[in-house]
Amino acid sequence: MTMHKKAVTAPATKRVALVAHDNMKQELILWARDHKDKLVSHHLMATGTTGNLLQKELGVEVKALISGPLGGDQQLGGLIAEGKIDVLIFFWDPFEPMPHDPDIKALLRVAAVWNIPIACSVSSANFLVSSPLFDSEFEKVIPDYDRYLSERI
Ligand code: PGA
Repeated sequence: MTMHKKAVTAPATKRVALVAHDNMKQELILWARDHKDKLVSHHLMATGTTGNLLQKELGVEVKALISGPLGGDQQLGGLIAEGKIDVLIFFWDPFEPMPHDPDIKALLRVAAVWNIPIACSVSSANFLVSSPLFDSEFEKVIPDYDRYLSERI
């Protein structure tokens, strides 16, 4: 299938989604502490437990979605498909992926479809926040949904 694409502009102030599986939460909190100055100038949201921990750590509003095991990862995927997330920091646990496997796969897939910058480790998250694009507008290509639909009917 040919997917027609179109260019859009991602905003300078990003909508950043953060998720950490239980064994990765400490790593994410420490990472967020190190990058607090960068993070607090963006709109932050996270799955339930991750969001509560981050809000305490950063002292700024972190919009809480549903907790991951109860559907939060899929809620996040839906928001990505709606164009409501600009960056995904997703510390999934490589040692204990079950029963999260389907959620991991689904979230990574939809993030790839919509060309969202993703970081799944501390070093990739460091690259992401140290990019000049993290604080400025940038052009990206995403599926042209109107054209996609019009060709299917
Ligand atoms: P949580 O969800 O932030 O509510 O723990 C993350 C996950 O386990 O997928």
